[in-house]
Amino acid sequence: YNVVHRGDAISVQTKDRFHELAAGRGLVLDPEQPDIVVSVGGDGTMLHAFHLYKEQLETTSFVGIHTGHLGFYADWKPGEIELLVDSMAAAMSCPPLKTVKYPVVQIQIETERGTQTHLALNEFTLKGGEATLVAELHINDELFEMFRGDGICISTPSGSTGYNKSLTGAILHPSLDAIQIAEMASLNNRLYRSLGSSMVLPKHHHCDIYPKKKMNMLLTIDHLNVQMNDIVSIRSMVAEEKVSFARFRPFPFWNRVREAFIGEIVE
Ligand code: NAD
Repeated sequence: YNVVHRGDAISVQTKDRFHELAAGRGLVLDPEQPDIVVSVGGDGTMLHAFHLYKEQLETTSFVGIHTGHLGFYADWKPGEIELLVDSMAAAMSCPPLKTVKYPVVQIQIETERGTQTHLALNEFTLKGGEATLVAELHINDELFEMFRGDGICISTPSGSTGYNKSLTGAILHPSLDAIQIAEMASLNNRLYRSLGSSMVLPKHHHCDIYPKKKMNMLLTIDHLNVQMNDIVSIRSMVAEEKVSFARFRPFPFWNRVREAFIGEIVE
C-alpha cells in the first residue's frame, strides 16, 4: 500500500497513524507498486493520487479518508482508520480485493509539436485564455456545431458532481460508461448557435474540438492547469482503462450525492 496525503496537520497526523496501524497488521508499504493507494485529505488529494498512479490503474485500487468535509472520493473518517486497516489486512489475506470500477475520460491533444494523451478522473476543460473560445465541435467525425463561449467541459460520471454540476450538467451514475459535454456560458443569439444542453456520449463515441482562432488557451485536466497556444484539436472519449476503488463497505453513489448536496430533509 501507499498513502498520499494533503500535507495539512490533520492529514499528516492521520497518515502517521495509518502507517503505525498498517505495520502492526503486516501491511507492506510499497510506494512503487502499491495494490492500494490511500488518499488522506479531500477530493483534490484523490485527484492527485490518481495522477500519480494513472499508469498502474490495472493493478492499483484507491481508497479515500477525508480530513475535511465528506468527499466524493473520500468516504472514510480519520476516526475509522483502525477499521479501514483491519479491512485492508483481511482483504489482502483473502484476495481478490472487492472493488468498484469507474470510467475515466481519455483526451488526445493534437498540437503543432505532436500528440499527447491524458486521462482525467473528473473532467477536462478547454477555455479561451484571452478571448471567447470559438471552436468546431465534431461528434463521431461529423461537424455538430460551432461553439462560441467561455469554454467546454468534458466530464466522467464520477466527475459529473464536480465542475460539470456547476455548469448545470446532469449527474451520471458511475456504472455508466459515458462522458458528458457541458457548455460554459455559450453565446446564443440570431447569429451564433450551439445546443445549449449538455450531451452524454456512450463508449466508442468520440468528440473532437477544433479551435478556430490561434490564441493562448487554458486547459485543465482535473486539478492540473496548462496553457497552450498551438492546439490543433482535442479528441475525448471514454478511456479503455477504468479506475478501481477498494470497497470494504457499501456507500452507494446516490447516498453520497444526497449527503453532499441535499443533507437533512426537512418534512
Ligand atoms: P478544490 O480543492 O478547490 O476543489 C473544489 C471542490 O470540488 C472541492 O470542494 C472538492 O470536494 C470538489 N470536488 C472535486 N471533485 C469532485 C467530484 N467528483 N464530485 C463532487 N465534488 C468534487 O480544487 P482541486 O482540488 O484543484 O479540485 C479540482 C476539481 O475542482 C476539478 O476537477 C473540478 O471538478 C472542481 N472544480 C469545480 C469548479 C466549479 O464547480 N465551478 C471550478 C473549478 C474546479
